[in-house]
Amino acid sequence: MATTSSANRNNSAVKRIMQEARELANDPSSDYTAAPSEDDIFEWHCTIRGPVGTEFEGGLYHLRILLPAEYPFRPPSLMVLTPNGRFELNTKICISFTNYHEELWQPAWGVRTAILGIQGFFPLKGQAAVGVGSVEYPSAERKRLAALSREWICPHCQQSNVELLPDPDASPESHLEPDVPSIATESVTSPSEATAESNMVNDGVPSLPNPAVIAAPQTISSFGSPVLLDALIGIILALVFALLFKRIL
Ligand SMILES: [Zn+2]
Repeated sequence: MATTSSANRNNSAVKRIMQEARELANDPSSDYTAAPSEDDIFEWHCTIRGPVGTEFEGGLYHLRILLPAEYPFRPPSLMVLTPNGRFELNTKICISFTNYHEELWQPAWGVRTAILGIQGFFPLKGQAAVGVGSVEYPSAERKRLAALSREWICPHCQQSNVELLPDPDASPESHLEPDVPSIATESVTSPSEATAESNMVNDGVPSLPNPAVIAAPQTISSFGSPVLLDALIGIILALVFALLFKRIL
């Protein structure tokens, strides 16, 4: 009987953990990444970004998260693996939602809550920073460790922090920017072609207007105003000539 009930509980924990893993994979953040280990769903590895505007800014820190068999009814344990100057390494951290304060944990919370919680604890000073697993390093040392942390490689994941959580602006799309003006000129010369092209790409599926197509009427109206000005100058010149001819005659 006991075996069946513990197996059921374990099964519900596995279901819940799988659900959280899917949710994290479908809605990723540029501030952290986390996934269960391939060999043990109860052990997660996670990389978090040091909070902006703190001595941990630019740093990337790797965490080991252990989920109990009774999860989510008992809280996860968190351990920081990357040298950081804020948390002791490989030590269960004492924060409100970890197993040091089990009574505060709520089953509705999840791995994401725990990650956001520890990220928030990085810059805290004074009483909030004191506890098991906490260390006080000078600011310069924390900054030095933050710079080193990016290339730190997890022996379990066998990848560096920066490989696991690349910087948001490091995407290859940013290199395409110089090409944008030439694309815009093409659409000005043939706005109808641009429309046809976008329709082909979208395959008849209604979508948001292509920015190039929106830009085209604006460029046409800017071409229109010099034409109007030319016509006005022509009329004025014609009037002036007419008056001059009248005087001569
Ligand atoms: Zn790892």
